[in-house]
Amino acid sequence: MTDFNPKLTRRGFLKTSASSVGALVFLDRAFWSMTSGLAKLGAPLPWFKGQVKTTYNYCDICPWRCGIVVKSVGNRVYKIDGNPKDPKSRGMLCARGQAGVSFLYDPDRLKQPMIRTGARGEGKFKNATWEEALDYSAQKMLTIKDRYGPESVAFFGHTSGDFWFTDYLSQAWGSPNSAKPSVSMCTTPREEAALITFGRAIGNHEPVDWDNARAIVLIGTHIGEDARNTMMQDLANARARGAKLVVVDPHYSSAAMKADYWLPIKPGTDTALLLAWMNVLIGEKLYDADFIAKWTVGFDQLADHVKAFTPEWAAPITDLPADKIRETARAMGRNRPQSVIVPGRHVIWYGNDTQRMRAVYIGNALVGALGRPGGMYFNKPPFIDEIQHPPFAATSGAGG
Ligand code: SF4
Repeated sequence: MTDFNPKLTRRGFLKTSASSVGALVFLDRAFWSMTSGLAKLGAPLPWFKGQVKTTYNYCDICPWRCGIVVKSVGNRVYKIDGNPKDPKSRGMLCARGQAGVSFLYDPDRLKQPMIRTGARGEGKFKNATWEEALDYSAQKMLTIKDRYGPESVAFFGHTSGDFWFTDYLSQAWGSPNSAKPSVSMCTTPREEAALITFGRAIGNHEPVDWDNARAIVLIGTHIGEDARNTMMQDLANARARGAKLVVVDPHYSSAAMKADYWLPIKPGTDTALLLAWMNVLIGEKLYDADFIAKWTVGFDQLADHVKAFTPEWAAPITDLPADKIRETARAMGRNRPQSVIVPGRHVIWYGNDTQRMRAVYIGNALVGALGRPGGMYFNKPPFIDEIQHPPFAATSGAGG
């Protein structure tokens, strides 16, 4: 804790300086940066009364859940930073996490349950206590159960803590109708493809050895825009270390701006590009023959299958120049096995996503990147396997 000597309250300071919420947010930041600057110089800090309290928590704005350090005075939070000891934030937050204070004090933030009082869509609600809201929901559910049976209630969940709802509550209630549809729109093809190709799901988080990769390929993966704090840091560090970066994306994304190769592919044609890459890797003997011999089956069939899928074949399909397709395949092959096509998340794109993801994994296998430094590893979630439970209706695939 840090003591401050009051002369002018901070609220008073703000009142005289700002009249809009935007200005308040700006001044919050200015205040804290000024405070820490003056504190470093040993100057007295006269403008509010109280002690700065430091607490530790995690950011729940997205499922990544970075560790945070929260600075508050009284009951008011003023600053949120990344926790340097947390392996996810490593002392830094993404823009959303940084804006967590505004999120907390947003005047439109829902802070308590509300029960609809008007017709659906009319927008009329009344505030309720948690007891009222829970009783209300329970009563509605029991009425449906009595009339139609427990299976007529379906449970849908996503991310933080959803398993209590979609797995445990649905089981206790007696409904097999439990789903995580958002997962189906995000990582399910990735996991299904991994099950079919490797015999196991890859799990969360994306198991990429960023620290040792020498060539990184992002295809349909928007690191920097689909913000995941740690991955952004990992990618930035890899680039700073000199790793080659290939970004396949129709739009000039934040990652594309930093790439050695930006391939603005025609949407919906990723698999053609992946097949052409395989054609070059195999045709130019840029694959890891020892790895393939030891760990894979079906290489000869694959080689036959992709023979016709040359870069010239893929060029008019993908709208990419054949020489760029060849050049990027060579960049991957020459850096093998520290060369990885990042499996990504939000991999639902065109309807052939499971096969597209299989092609991603086969590309990784060709360069020997599976289970190798600088490639993809196979992680194990920290759950206690010995605790037995009945099978769940829905299987998880995402969540952070
Ligand atoms: S990635 Fe950003 S929004 Fe998500 S938990 Fe971390 S800081 Fe919060």
